[in-house]
Amino acid sequence: MIDEAVLEERLTKLEAAKNWSPRVVSRLETLIRSGPDEAVFRINPIRFAAERGIAENEAIDLFLHATLAGVVEMDWLLYCPVCSDVVANFRSLRAVHNQYHCHLCQADYEATLDDYIAVTFTVQPAVRSIRYHDPDSLAAEDYAYYYKGTTEGLTEQGVQLIDLMRSVTRGLWRLRRGEAATLELEVEPGALLGFDMESDASFRFEVSGDRHVDAERIPIVIRPGACAPNGGSLTPGPVVIELRSENDRAAIFGVLHPQDRHSPRGGDRRHAERPPRLFRPDRQHRLARAEPRRRRRDLPHGGGAPSAWRRSPRSRAIPCAWPRPS
Ligand SMILES: [Zn+2]
Repeated sequence: MIDEAVLEERLTKLEAAKNWSPRVVSRLETLIRSGPDEAVFRINPIRFAAERGIAENEAIDLFLHATLAGVVEMDWLLYCPVCSDVVANFRSLRAVHNQYHCHLCQADYEATLDDYIAVTFTVQPAVRSIRYHDPDSLAAEDYAYYYKGTTEGLTEQGVQLIDLMRSVTRGLWRLRRGEAATLELEVEPGALLGFDMESDASFRFEVSGDRHVDAERIPIVIRPGACAPNGGSLTPGPVVIELRSENDRAAIFGVLHPQDRHSPRGGDRRHAERPPRLFRPDRQHRLARAEPRRRRRDLPHGGGAPSAWRRSPRSRAIPCAWPRPS
């Protein structure tokens, strides 16, 4: 829902901020008015520029000024270097730690900030409310694919990771304490995986050998930080997974069945394309330095980044090794 009065007032402020090229502000207005919720959530200004034929620097300027005018708000995202999940998001650079943990990969990483941090922009709730403003109310699919996942993550073949994840996901639930879910499926040689996106609770069954005929029941309890059981081996054939949560908070639990044909190095090379470019902090600092009239503390991110951040950008895109090789 759009608040017309607020949008009008803030766009007027944005238009007055500088001499924009023709239709630059109106392109942002069109996106806010008619884009689906996903399109106004974590906007990548570089992609915005490319898709609308706007100069990159002007698009970056547009979003920084739109942040100051209250049209959008700025997010710092920390991506997992392996699965490209959003492991953390921050309103301020100051909140970023150099160690972080990915529940999907169940691994600790050291933040190499140039590579795995990005700046994105989301429409302000006062301008337009979208369901991503309240992640706890999201359907499990929206949470998994668009809140924790990102459309920027690509395989080596250029396939979006969230599409790959969708293609092997057999069930996805938001399970509160005491809630249960049942999934019947036919398993084939490969792996049967389950994981909570908010903790290390997970399981992994290896599927191989001779096919069985009668359905095999697998009761699994989701506990804080672990599933019981957390894995084993299965033969191909029908299985019934019976999930029950004993977690204190809601689990966003997914069951995935990547089969041997889903090798991360397989896939269709016709999809190969240039990897996405992200708006990274170093660009922002360059921009900040180019505008001496603006006091640093007036910048939306608070200015003053650690010197370690001021390294030259690398062109490396988010790499992909998903599904994770066993
Ligand atoms: Zn990960």
